[in-house]
Amino acid sequence: MREWLRWPVLRQLTGSDPLGRGRAARSAETDREYARTEDAEAVVGSVCPYCAVGCAQRVYVRDGAVTQIEGDPDSPVSRGRLCPKGSASRSLVTSPDRQTRVAYRRPYGTEWEELDLDTAVDMIADRVIRTRDETWQETDSDGTRLRRTMGIASLGGATLDNEENYLMKKLYTALGAIQIENQARI
Ligand code: SF4
Repeated sequence: MREWLRWPVLRQLTGSDPLGRGRAARSAETDREYARTEDAEAVVGSVCPYCAVGCAQRVYVRDGAVTQIEGDPDSPVSRGRLCPKGSASRSLVTSPDRQTRVAYRRPYGTEWEELDLDTAVDMIADRVIRTRDETWQETDSDGTRLRRTMGIASLGGATLDNEENYLMKKLYTALGAIQIENQARI
């Protein structure tokens, strides 16, 4: 076909779409576009990790990679809807800026350094044990039993799920911490 015959205005004026809201407005490029959900090999149910609403998601997967995340219409909580944060959560997984290594900046340090996970966990455990020992309160000034530490507190984020919050509460209570809160309750 001659190139000028593809001109949209000509197709609009001479074809069956005089208002230019259908075929006349489409191009070969438009016809090549398709939804990222169409060629997914699997669709996995999930829950948006960003806040306590817990909107349900459908995660579309191809070649082992997340290709799209959309709201799940079967959810009684969100009925297929996602707010802009939930709609953009694919980048949580696929963004090249995603942090996958432990980054540590020493006291008074000016640069981040990478630590392996075992080293980082050992450092956290050492600090928790030392802080608990240094701040442990067995009784108050009247001799009333306290058995607690005010030196350790926890503020959880909304990305924690029920099971993680349950385990964190168990751990901190066992340590004697009483200042345990979650951002989703504020
Ligand atoms: S989609 Fe928005 S409202 Fe729903 S859980 Fe995610 S962040 Fe919260």
